[in-house]
Amino acid sequence: MNNVCAGMSTRSGGVSGGGLGMNLSYRVGDAPENVSANRLQFFEALGVSPASAAYPIQCHSNRVRIVHSPGEYPDCDALISAETGLALAVTVADCVPILLFDPVRRVAAAVHAGWRGTVGQIVALAVAQMIQECGANPGHIVAFIGPAAGACCYQVDAPVASQFPDPFVRDAGNGKYFPDLKRFNKAQLIAQGVPHAQIEIDSDCTMCNAAKYHSYRREGASSGRMLAVIQMKLP
Ligand SMILES: [Zn+2]
Repeated sequence: MNNVCAGMSTRSGGVSGGGLGMNLSYRVGDAPENVSANRLQFFEALGVSPASAAYPIQCHSNRVRIVHSPGEYPDCDALISAETGLALAVTVADCVPILLFDPVRRVAAAVHAGWRGTVGQIVALAVAQMIQECGANPGHIVAFIGPAAGACCYQVDAPVASQFPDPFVRDAGNGKYFPDLKRFNKAQLIAQGVPHAQIEIDSDCTMCNAAKYHSYRREGASSGRMLAVIQMKLP
């Protein structure tokens, strides 16, 4: 895609010790100077300045904000912007990162969708806001649904499973349920009018691919975190 840069980190590279490697979060007990060095490495590889990034301070909500400048934005889990050069970044380790771009209207979004955000339809709300407040056309939007905990591994209990529509959760018996977060998010995009052919799903599961990805479910709260980033370039 012309005029846009989008990417996601893995756990490889980076300077952090103890298996954190390329950890990009300041909130997991990693030394701040390591995180800064890692972020510089990752952003440089993308050709993006770390100073141009805007981050939601994520809280597993379905709140979406439209932003115009770099910095941290509390109490939301998705950012939308029409500003060229502003990088939108979400932090993930098992949760689903979703990057959206309307190349005609030139508006982009980065969405963090764990099970709560997915059930709360945050990606549908983000697309609706792109349309209503930024003039985007869902028929033009391209979407990337990134590596995340897959339906192969991501297990929830009955109270959580019951919040998913039947087609998006597998009942494995014995009270074990496996929702398919990526597929439910894709269905939400399609329901908002984003064409099937313009939605790419990365098939990787972060939980069963320990060599490549950080995973909260596998490694716990001190797991490293990855970033998914989108930045519109000058047309
Ligand atoms: Zn898996």
